[in-house]
Amino acid sequence: MAAVITARLCTYVRNALDCQIDRIVCWTDNSSTLHWIRGSPSQWKPFVANRVMEIQSLLDPSVWRYCPGPQNPADVPTRGMSSNELKESRLWWEGPAWLRSSEEEWPKDRRSASLNEYVEIERTHQASINSYVIQPQEIFIDFARFSKYNKLLRTIAWIKRFIYNAQVKQDERRQNVLTGLEIQESERWLVNRIQIERFSEEILLIRQSKVLNDSKLRNLNPFLCQSTGLLRVGGRIHKAELPEEEKHPIILPSDHPAVELFVQAIHRREMHAGVEHTLSVVRQRFWLIKGRATIRKIVKRCIVCRQFYTKPVSQHMAPLPADRIVPAPPFTNVGLDFAGPLYLKNRGEKAYICLFTCAVTRAVHLELVSNMTTERLLLALRRMVARRGMCSIIWSDNAKTFKCAKKELQSCWRILESEETRTALSEKKIQWKFIVPRAPWWGGFYERLVKSVKLPLKKIFGNAMLDAEQMTTILTEIEAQINSRPLTYIGAEPNDLKALTPAQILIGKIYRRFQAKIRKLRSTLSTP
Ligand SMILES: [Zn+2]
Repeated sequence: MAAVITARLCTYVRNALDCQIDRIVCWTDNSSTLHWIRGSPSQWKPFVANRVMEIQSLLDPSVWRYCPGPQNPADVPTRGMSSNELKESRLWWEGPAWLRSSEEEWPKDRRSASLNEYVEIERTHQASINSYVIQPQEIFIDFARFSKYNKLLRTIAWIKRFIYNAQVKQDERRQNVLTGLEIQESERWLVNRIQIERFSEEILLIRQSKVLNDSKLRNLNPFLCQSTGLLRVGGRIHKAELPEEEKHPIILPSDHPAVELFVQAIHRREMHAGVEHTLSVVRQRFWLIKGRATIRKIVKRCIVCRQFYTKPVSQHMAPLPADRIVPAPPFTNVGLDFAGPLYLKNRGEKAYICLFTCAVTRAVHLELVSNMTTERLLLALRRMVARRGMCSIIWSDNAKTFKCAKKELQSCWRILESEETRTALSEKKIQWKFIVPRAPWWGGFYERLVKSVKLPLKKIFGNAMLDAEQMTTILTEIEAQINSRPLTYIGAEPNDLKALTPAQILIGKIYRRFQAKIRKLRSTLSTP
């Protein structure tokens, strides 16, 4: 400060005196000050640097000289001296004796070369500091040993509590159960740890304000959250009125065991939700890299979900019998089944339905049979043969397999097995084949069709009573309806081939119903 005042005073006096001044010499007994003034201001701390800058702007550093302390006249009054002594003091009035000698005689600052303590104190220490994210070497927690995310968080919280309690006095120690805050803190620690393990390079670049060129996080425009130190997704919606975590979700890697535990926990908490649902819940707080694929992989491994969505192992089907796959005209090989009884309007008569199924084309033919006798059954067969052509094989279930069937239906089967029927068929060279009991796949080809006949019958008729003619009409329409079902895959593209139906094989064209809706027909029918 004294040097600054000296410099200002010199300049002031020089400006004030209107005369030529050849040389200015400033003296200081402080070798540190001398050293500061002679050095570059930038190497000193701000207080000294600012003053040195001012001094250097006013006077050239070379004008400064060293004066040893005892010979400094400025110090004379401060050392304690009576006015008489001061009056006699030559140092005070004339200055040091060597001032009158030539410049060579002037004292030299021997210490200036060796930097003393004061100089060093005021020196700014310029050091380039590189901050490195250190990959933790010792495995603090082995994530692979945990099966539940909550358990992992609780373990971390307990370890952190132990560390905390070990550092504080006994009465400040945390006791009892873990608090929500401790769990939150352990999650923050865990996420931080995961990010350091997986994104250390990115974190280092972001700290140095460098651009992430080759990083997979580049598109997320990541930044380090100031309050938590976590890596978050940047973006342009930071002014939106959304919770911070939704605006800037925390970035998580896809391939970390703890992340897998976290996703599993969300999936379970959301009652084993699907991929999209789980993803949307995860996104509320976190941005998972390759989120959908990662979650799909994890959900796929969920044992509970597997039990629900896995199809049972299907029974290996026996090869189809030759009769079903050797090309033959429709209704050459037929399956025969019965449905009923149906009650007719006229005096409550019973009627049965004979279901003929083509084994090759899967077409059906329905015949209404009133009171089940051999004669009536053979009449129905004759009608079928007359319209569809002679059949060579008839498949049917064994009567014994129908133990549980209605009594009325059992009588049908007894007729089939009767000698009269067999004789009639053998005369026409028709083979009668019974399907092996307890081998349902043999009859599968027509049993499914029987189901598809019975269901519409039930739906349409309900309790309605029809006369024989109405019943025949409805049955024929149901037959046509079943024969119009597609046998092949229906393509999704407009250019895909049209599906093939049994009706196309039978009549060569698509079946169109005369009546718009079967239901309409039903409404025209009388109900009892
Ligand atoms: Zn699940």
